[in-house]
Amino acid sequence: MPLSLTRADLQRTQNFINARWSDAADGRRLPVSDPASDAVFAEVPDSGAADARAAVDAAQAALPAWRATPAKQRAQLLKRWHALILAHQEDLGRLISREQGKPLAEGRGEVLYAASYVEWFAEEATRAYGDVIPEPVRGRKMLVVKEPVGVVAAITPWNFPAAMIARKIAPALAAGCTVVAKPAEDTPLTSLALTRLAEEAGLPAGVLNMVVASRERAAEVVDVWLADGRVRKITFTGSTPVGKHLARESAGTLKKLSLELGGNAPFIVFDDADIDAAVEGLMAAKFRNGGQTCVCPNRVFVQRGVHDLFVEKLALRVAALVVGPASAPGSQIGPMINGRAVDKIERHVADAVSRGASIVVGGRRLRSDSCDGPNYYAPTVLTGADASMACSLEETFGPVVPITRFDSEAEVIAAANDTPFGLAAYFYSRDIARVWRVSDALETGIVGINEGALAAEAAPFGGIKESGYGREGSRYGLDDYMQTKYLCQGLNLGAAA
Ligand code: NAP
Repeated sequence: MPLSLTRADLQRTQNFINARWSDAADGRRLPVSDPASDAVFAEVPDSGAADARAAVDAAQAALPAWRATPAKQRAQLLKRWHALILAHQEDLGRLISREQGKPLAEGRGEVLYAASYVEWFAEEATRAYGDVIPEPVRGRKMLVVKEPVGVVAAITPWNFPAAMIARKIAPALAAGCTVVAKPAEDTPLTSLALTRLAEEAGLPAGVLNMVVASRERAAEVVDVWLADGRVRKITFTGSTPVGKHLARESAGTLKKLSLELGGNAPFIVFDDADIDAAVEGLMAAKFRNGGQTCVCPNRVFVQRGVHDLFVEKLALRVAALVVGPASAPGSQIGPMINGRAVDKIERHVADAVSRGASIVVGGRRLRSDSCDGPNYYAPTVLTGADASMACSLEETFGPVVPITRFDSEAEVIAAANDTPFGLAAYFYSRDIARVWRVSDALETGIVGINEGALAAEAAPFGGIKESGYGREGSRYGLDDYMQTKYLCQGLNLGAAA
């Protein structure tokens, strides 16, 4: 079995609540399947409201001691967790690839990416500085201190099962918060393995609690956290409709929110671009994780003068991509996460063709000796895309590049911003004046300028508009898990004089 683990006990199949591995209170189970074949290979708890409440009870009980733990000690625990994640990179990478489907090289890479956030926030934990304010009147000392927000509920998607969890849990723990977390139905095992390593690192009981649930019961678990006034923050990565639901429902207890939601990234190639670099950048940005990333280019705009050359060079690269199961050496595009994902891609391509787009490469489901499962889709390039097509209006979340030809800078900026979403944008140009003009004009939280790979633990990751708010990573990331307290001390000058 190519994706089997060297340490079998890292495949945990129970919840982790108050430092105990436990089944759902009502004993319900949820199958976990391999997207390469849809074969079930594990079962985990299908938790409900009672488990969600037990997790908050544990997190609330652990909070006073954890927030009082000196930042340096919290940092040391995070560093131990970081070291254990690195030591188990191969097993964690296999687990990611097995339950999520990405090629093993990408699974291993995701482990390093996730670990980088744990290391970063271990270091940031000791730098949660406050401020001393010059007092505007005599007889006072005025200070600002940073405090942990309290119990944090973290809800994560399936596309980066290790990185999404690490990006939330590491800053929360660094800040002195305790955590209840729910991973996505499709990818619970990576979160449970990371939790096992956090336990081994010596995290005290109740500081991190992991509750697994099916898609049907996700709302039952999260509704408990939304309604519970002890949960002071929700940190969520996922779709915009669910993010809006969380914003509405958390209003009852006015929780702090971080929402990392969907994108609809434009990728613009101007006439003055280095075309080979633009093709490389698009390949890196689009085809990571089979196109199932929130920052992957969803709409590609190419200026008339270089359109045909760009399409020709891109088509050669896309046609050469190797599609296959995560376990096959050389795989570059794995299966999509499930059948619903492939159905959506198929619908988008059919809609685009019915509205006048042309298929240059791909454009079909794949079934062959090397892709012997139901969830494969051929890497695809479409030309003649326009703003009326479903692939321009929604995230396709698959290996499809729809290309639109444009004439002027003003026209393409208007088209790029013509979306409710604002997560990432990319453009390629060698004109320095244009670089600054276009960077200023794009309405997104992240802009790639002659660069396709943007994410890094040292950079603030997050969107604007309906892509959400809050930032993960960087020196801004810790603030999302802290509140600001102002201390004002009277100096009683009269008595001293
Ligand atoms: P999703 O359906 O919104 O699910 C995300 C999480 O929310 C999962 O844990 C899911 O549980 C849970 N959930 C679903 N319905 C819920 C409800 N009614 N109440 C409470 N929780 C609920 O999103 P997805 O399809 O898994 O992920 C893809 C989306 O994530 C895309 O839109 C992508 O752009 C976005 N994303 C954004 C970022 C970013 O940083 N901005 C990063 C990665 C992905 P179940 O799995 O059990 O349904």
